[in-house]
Amino acid sequence: MNDCIFCKIMTGIAPASVVYEDELCKVFLDIQPVTPGHLLVVPKQHIVGLSDLPEDLGGHLFQVGQRMAAILRKSSIPCEGINFFLADGAVAFQTVFHVHLHVIPRTKGDGFGLTFGENYKKLPGRETLDRIAQEFRNIT
Ligand code: AMP
Ligand code: ZN
Repeated sequence: MNDCIFCKIMTGIAPASVVYEDELCKVFLDIQPVTPGHLLVVPKQHIVGLSDLPEDLGGHLFQVGQRMAAILRKSSIPCEGINFFLADGAVAFQTVFHVHLHVIPRTKGDGFGLTFGENYKKLPGRETLDRIAQEFRNIT
């Protein structure tokens, strides 16, 4: 049996506060919001991560995320800005292995932030950037 919590939400076995639904995805409130109004855009199909996600479905999730961002900005929830976030893999902070797009309303001083490694401030030279770009271009 599939033990995935988001699959359980899709079938109604587990509860969720649903904001939007169509044939491909559901949007519901995160149970542990980073900020009030934090939403998750989740495909109905059990897809673990980006490499399994068809591009057109990924595009749809992003499109729905944009609509949710517009709703957040019109709502009574404090929202001065928005972050989209998608964790692909445990090292990238994925904890629910059913792909999902976070839509997070932001306000000044809301406490949410990113931390960077100590090399962050050492900018790579153009040669390094070009070498990496060339390698990536050669991968199909
Ligand atoms: P991630 O770390 O990107 O995999 O995010 C998983 C998110 O799912 C976290 O923000 C959790 O708070 C959220 N979450 C886990 N279980 C539930 C649930 N039953 N209903 C709503 N959100 C959930
Ligand atoms: Zn699932």
